[in-house]
Amino acid sequence: MRIVILGPPGAGKGTQAKLLACNYNIAHIATGDILRQAVAERSYTGEKVASYIMRGYLVPDEIIMELIRETLKKNNLVRSDFILDGIPRTISQLKDLQEFLTQQNSNLELAIYIKLRDEEILRRLGGRRVCPSCGNNYHIIFSPPVEENLCNYCRIELKHRQDDKEDAIKQRLEEYENKTYPCIQYYKKEGILEEVDGEGSIEEVFARVNKIVLERFKR
Ligand code: AMP
Repeated sequence: MRIVILGPPGAGKGTQAKLLACNYNIAHIATGDILRQAVAERSYTGEKVASYIMRGYLVPDEIIMELIRETLKKNNLVRSDFILDGIPRTISQLKDLQEFLTQQNSNLELAIYIKLRDEEILRRLGGRRVCPSCGNNYHIIFSPPVEENLCNYCRIELKHRQDDKEDAIKQRLEEYENKTYPCIQYYKKEGILEEVDGEGSIEEVFARVNKIVLERFKR
């Protein structure tokens, strides 16, 4: 089961990808998480990418492709089951990824596109809070933590991601429209795309996503 999950920022890609990974016991590879970790560790890559992320710009393709190739090669993940979340975000990444997978005798079998209206995207991103330790997402209105602003699991203070602030959100949406949406059209032409309505609760969206996975992989 080799899946890629796509959609606008705030559509719930990360949440749904984590649920799928957990449900089917497969690897979840999220480029955003890998990059945020690099920034937190102040590694060489982290220092290079921090300002792009904070301002809502895409990180250069070469940096992302090196990270993803390295991650997929580790433990021979490339030929096992995985879900990619946050990549590809440009046609150049899509083509490089395809080439890399082919070289490694692997391929993508399914692209899930989570659709969401602009109004709902803004509402979700504005209220999103993240645990800096475990990465769990909350929303101040729709899924608040049990105790105000504290992670339910780590009990540390939740953060408002710098790139979930207004100017960065605008930039991320622009990057999405101009550079990432063409990837969705590309997978549609290739015949591996399935669309999912991203409105509703996490459980409702997961039921839709899971139905597609069950049908595609006949589990
Ligand atoms: P995400 O957590 O997936 O929303 O990603 C957060 C930020 O990380 C994005 O706004 C980009 O700045 C950067 N990023 C993540 N994945 C990619 C990618 N595949 N290509 C370029 N930039 C990326």
